[in-house]
Amino acid sequence: MMYYGLDIGGTKIELAAFDDQFNLLHKERVDTPKEDYQRWIETVAALVENADKKFGEQGSVGIGLPGFVNRETGIAEITNIRAADNKPILRDLSARLGREVRAENDANCFALSEAWAAENQQYPFVLGLILGTGFGGGLVFDGKAHSGHVGMAGELGHIQLNYHALKLLGWDNAPIYKCGCGNEACLDTYISGRGFEMLYRDLKGEALKAPDIIARFYQGEQSAVEFVEMHIELMAICIGNIITALDPDMIVLGGGLSNFDHIYDALPKALPKHLLRSAKVPVIKKAIFGDSGGVRGAAALHMVR
Ligand SMILES: [Zn+2]
Repeated sequence: MMYYGLDIGGTKIELAAFDDQFNLLHKERVDTPKEDYQRWIETVAALVENADKKFGEQGSVGIGLPGFVNRETGIAEITNIRAADNKPILRDLSARLGREVRAENDANCFALSEAWAAENQQYPFVLGLILGTGFGGGLVFDGKAHSGHVGMAGELGHIQLNYHALKLLGWDNAPIYKCGCGNEACLDTYISGRGFEMLYRDLKGEALKAPDIIARFYQGEQSAVEFVEMHIELMAICIGNIITALDPDMIVLGGGLSNFDHIYDALPKALPKHLLRSAKVPVIKKAIFGDSGGVRGAAALHMVR
């Protein structure tokens, strides 16, 4: 049995084919059609049929999207892929390909990819957190993504700053950012890699890229050290609340800021004071697969543990 995972982005569509041992056997990448929905369907179908021809069978099809398919209406909400936004993509792709096509958002595919790694299968409940341009989450229980009632479970970036976070940021002096969702003070703009840079700019008065802030931190520059300590505390407050709600066995971090190794040492130490006394800080690890996680996680949508 072959498992195909497709990672569909705004510019590229990638298909990867895996066997049931999760070995990668084939990969193909094409441009995402910009406007025409029928062309978009045919482009996805051609990738799948190329793989079918290569393996002499109909593989299962899972899709990772920068958005979600509404579970009640079947309509896709993927604003940065105009050709397929607001369309019943699963119904149409399933009909076109003659098999059940499944889809999940990128963050759930990221979490699935990590949860299915051999060394992580000991953890029943995996929470994936992406510290990239934005902050997002994916939830995986026993190898299956949890997407919730409408399909937006794990949209943790739109949790809002709380009492402790505002106190840490200095109440009236706290920078309040507008979020892409239309709201204000969403975690997306604070504990993401982008938030790390915006806060440094607004609290320290200098616009630097995250790798430069991190380099100054490792050189022991006081302002950068203070800032990183503050940001770790901010992450502990925000991620602590998420742990209180979910109590995961493992948290896996992805996205650019997840490469900052100091987090794996400092965050577990900062968390307990924001958790219940009986709570346990989960294992916190860096993603193994990183950017190639999308196709792996999408392929895992049809796997059963
Ligand atoms: Zn938001």
